[in-house]
Amino acid sequence: MKYIYLDNAATTQVAPEVLEAMTPFFTEFYGNPSSIYSFAGESKKAVEDARTKIAGYIGAKPEEIYFTGGGSESDNWALKATAEAYANKGKHIITSTIEHHAILHTCEYLEKHGFEVTYVNVDENGIVKLDELEAAIRPDTILISIMAANNEIGSIQPIAEIGKIAKEHNIFFHTDAVQAFAHIPLHVDEMHIDMLSASGHKINGPKGIGFMYIRKGIKSGSFIHGGAQERRRRAGTHNVPGIVGMAKAAELAVNAMEDRMEYERKLRDHLISRVLEEIPYSRLNGHRTNRLPNNANFCFRFIEGESMLILLDQKGICASSGSACTSGSLDPSHVLLAIGLPHEIAHGSLRLTLSEQTTMEEIDYTVDELKKIIERLRSMSPLYEDFVKKQNQNTK
Ligand SMILES: *Cc1c(COP(=O)(O)O)cnc(C)c1O
Repeated sequence: MKYIYLDNAATTQVAPEVLEAMTPFFTEFYGNPSSIYSFAGESKKAVEDARTKIAGYIGAKPEEIYFTGGGSESDNWALKATAEAYANKGKHIITSTIEHHAILHTCEYLEKHGFEVTYVNVDENGIVKLDELEAAIRPDTILISIMAANNEIGSIQPIAEIGKIAKEHNIFFHTDAVQAFAHIPLHVDEMHIDMLSASGHKINGPKGIGFMYIRKGIKSGSFIHGGAQERRRRAGTHNVPGIVGMAKAAELAVNAMEDRMEYERKLRDHLISRVLEEIPYSRLNGHRTNRLPNNANFCFRFIEGESMLILLDQKGICASSGSACTSGSLDPSHVLLAIGLPHEIAHGSLRLTLSEQTTMEEIDYTVDELKKIIERLRSMSPLYEDFVKKQNQNTK
């Protein structure tokens, strides 16, 4: 069976060029980059080349890039290690209500350990309210952590403005850029970013590899204790194939960025127009244009998200109702609640995230099937039946 894969915010397919770049580091150059003999030099060189490449894509220096086990680890590191290193300066952190759970759950952990966290609200489009953010700053605020782009509704945050506010107040600024890195332009100096998290598997690279940018001069203790790898800050034998693969994926994505954004936007806008025009009682979540080029997120009234996903799956369509981490639980998405949707509407959400492999035919097939599925589910819904009855009475 052929799948239509519209869940690229959850993970992506490894590009053939990425796999090709990685393979020799499993089979041929398997040396440990920390070893002395020249055979290991190939691995070491590959790791350092990857570091230089990745640094270049965000305007950083190679020695400011630290390889990690993925986006979640980078997020944990940014918050926990900064909190620990600067606890004597203050114990207050600012973040937003729509962050990924890698940030939110780490904040909860820190709250249990003596830190205070302010969760800044977003507007109805899922954009962080800058006036609220600035008002939340206190003399003991040490860190602001706001994501670059949201993984559920795709809203792109005003990162440069947030960076400026943080800098003016002499507070560190971390951004979870897992959905943004190599998807949209980022520059750590122009945007006053002090720390940045990214991940390989969201950019057609391998899973289980990520990186963290830490601006030179920022104190950050060892996050993983052990060997002296990564300037003694993150111990553990380098995941050489992963690092090589992530750098290759970043190279491909950055070089193709303009064209890909244009292509995905065209598909996304067609998808959004068709859904809103052809499916009654549907709404788009997030800003119409200020969103990731590959992201569409809808709510359908009188529909339960999980049933929609199961029926889409039967048609070979891979979609999600929020983030992969929240599906499986019955709680509505915290992001949809944060943009002001009531529980019963937030329950009927659908996220479709495209890739450059997605075709217009796949989009049209998906909308055609979705229309039928929603009609079918509504025809079985007593709530919908009541609603239609009331509508009819009102128009009489
Ligand atoms: C996927 C994702 C993460 C987690 O990254 P992993 O590499 O899967 O650990 C963190 N933040 C955002 C915004 C994400 O989309």
